[in-house]
Amino acid sequence: MKKSSMVLLAFFATLAVAMLIGFQVRAKGQQQKEPIGYEDTPMLPGGKWHVHDGMRPHPPIVTPGTFSSQQTPGQPPADAIVLFNGKDLSKWKSVKGGPAEWKVQDGYFQVAPGTGDIRTIQKFGPIQLHLEWSEPNPPHGESQGRGNSGVFLQGQYEIQVLDSYHNITYADGQAGAVYGQHPPLVNACRPPGEWQTYDIAFTPAIWQGGEVHLPAYVTVFQNGVLVQNHTEIWGSTGHRIFPHYKPDVGSTGPLELQDHHNPVRYRNIWIREIKPVS
Ligand code: MG
Repeated sequence: MKKSSMVLLAFFATLAVAMLIGFQVRAKGQQQKEPIGYEDTPMLPGGKWHVHDGMRPHPPIVTPGTFSSQQTPGQPPADAIVLFNGKDLSKWKSVKGGPAEWKVQDGYFQVAPGTGDIRTIQKFGPIQLHLEWSEPNPPHGESQGRGNSGVFLQGQYEIQVLDSYHNITYADGQAGAVYGQHPPLVNACRPPGEWQTYDIAFTPAIWQGGEVHLPAYVTVFQNGVLVQNHTEIWGSTGHRIFPHYKPDVGSTGPLELQDHHNPVRYRNIWIREIKPVS
């Protein structure tokens, strides 16, 4: 046998022995691994799990998405229901009946004034919602007449969409407000023409025996800034009305976008249904 072949043979033999030892050490380590968690710790409220309970199920893994830039919408998380991916309004319909007639172009859609609100075909309960909107530029109109639209959670509760950048209106009607109920904590508006984001966590009201047992709650980040912090919703929203819960609302409803006769644009809309953990 040539000297070079012998060297090569010795090298591979050494490698094989090293790998074998490595496997054995790892297997031994796994065998001796301590169990994860505890069973001798206090019980948590609810009486189901111990503190650090090793038997408690782990939450599902979700691959996160990416953030948007002004030029490009981000990617949704892996388990999101995509309601608008830049191409069509197949997940939406008109509240007047029939397909949604708002205009789709260049990766966004735009309110077609006079065609009416649009709502998702699917209904949702507790949700995380992401959507992006852009106000007409140059701005047109004043107060409630400047870039008015809205995001109706469960088809009932409007988170106001308005061009509130250097545009004064009543506080509970500016962008980020629960319309007619709660002004936003701050005004976090970008200038008209720029893409803005809403990231919303919403839980519907819980009914018992025909009465509201727990009200609906909403948390809203506008452009990454907290504008509603676990805000109690006092009922269906509207113009110049005392808020009240409608008894036939139920536990789910569609997401609805408002046609307030202003050509507001939307893009990158997705929802995650919130499911309780064990
Ligand atoms: Mg509105």
